[in-house]
Amino acid sequence: MSMQPTKLDVFQSTQQLHIEWPDGKIHELPFFGLRKNCPCVVCRGGHEKMGQFELELFFVQPTGLMEELRMKSLKAVGRHAIRITWSDGHNDGMYRHEDLYEWGEYVGAKQG
Ligand SMILES: [Zn+2]
Repeated sequence: MSMQPTKLDVFQSTQQLHIEWPDGKIHELPFFGLRKNCPCVVCRGGHEKMGQFELELFFVQPTGLMEELRMKSLKAVGRHAIRITWSDGHNDGMYRHEDLYEWGEYVGAKQG
């Protein structure tokens, strides 16, 4: 699948990234889950764990420093991913469109 977002909206106040897709779907992804599921090798805990995510973290209310989490920038990486720079300075993760879509579907389905 080579689906690219048609629109990305960052809502700092509610700590959510809204992604619109060509199929008309709009996904609402909380920063906390995005940050905790950062796809970089350090955040995943090793090369053997790449691509393994903890999607239940999208439903956890942030506490402590995570309550202050902001998205400083969001840049396209080619046609397949975005790179997010977080307010904690981390920006090693390349969030692939296909993963974001899958996460959005998961979060949307659970919210009913
Ligand atoms: Zn990371």
